[in-house]
Amino acid sequence: MSTPALLFTLLLLAFLFWMAWYWFVRHRQIRPLSAEQRALLEEKVRFYRQLSEKEKERFEQSIAQFLEDVAITGVETEVTAADRLLVAASAVIPLFGFPGWRYRNLNEVLLYPDKFDEDYQVQAARRNIIGMVGSGAMNRMMILSQPALRDSFAHPKQRQNVGIHEFIHLLDKADGTTDGIPEMLIPHEYTAPWLRMMQHEIEEIKDRDSDINPYGATNEAEFLSVAAEYFFSQPEKFGHKHPELYEMLSRIFRQAP
Ligand SMILES: [Zn+2]
Repeated sequence: MSTPALLFTLLLLAFLFWMAWYWFVRHRQIRPLSAEQRALLEEKVRFYRQLSEKEKERFEQSIAQFLEDVAITGVETEVTAADRLLVAASAVIPLFGFPGWRYRNLNEVLLYPDKFDEDYQVQAARRNIIGMVGSGAMNRMMILSQPALRDSFAHPKQRQNVGIHEFIHLLDKADGTTDGIPEMLIPHEYTAPWLRMMQHEIEEIKDRDSDINPYGATNEAEFLSVAAEYFFSQPEKFGHKHPELYEMLSRIFRQAP
């Protein structure tokens, strides 16, 4: 065989091998959730409890897929089966209106035993961070405080949810910029109205005329995360107090929780 023919054959083989691998990865059967895992979701995740039987099934499949795709690791703390499900639920809830979507920009979620500081240190005196999407050397990682994650799902009146908050940042970041406009999700014609709405709502928070977490006034990215965690945690109350925002977030996330 001549050299070009040999090269061509090798390239063809490599391509076929890659196709087969790709097909295998895409179609590999995901292990379904156990009865114990489903019971934990029922007990701890309100969003799941309120779904229909058919939707619950789809939710469970997305949870199983997420747990297959992303590692969840405890740093100086033990990760329980419930913790793993709470992380996965935080990831699945914002994307539940987009069947088949997966987080392509995340490999691992680290659970810390407490709050931490900008250098990811738990022992520092000035530590007040409960969640963070990593950048630089920590790219494709997320850090959550384990107690804050558990708290987010434990209280029925809670408007804050650190897991959902950080996963919304990750969705926002998927287009390259964390700016409060998740271009992967938002239809183009809503971009300008959404930006105006955010700026208006941020002013309301600054005027102390809003029940949205004041941290949302930091910038548009924080506003999106803070408003969305409220929208997903207390949808009735949020819809009642902020009907226009509710409508807009329903369009962005393609669901009316
Ligand atoms: Zn944030």
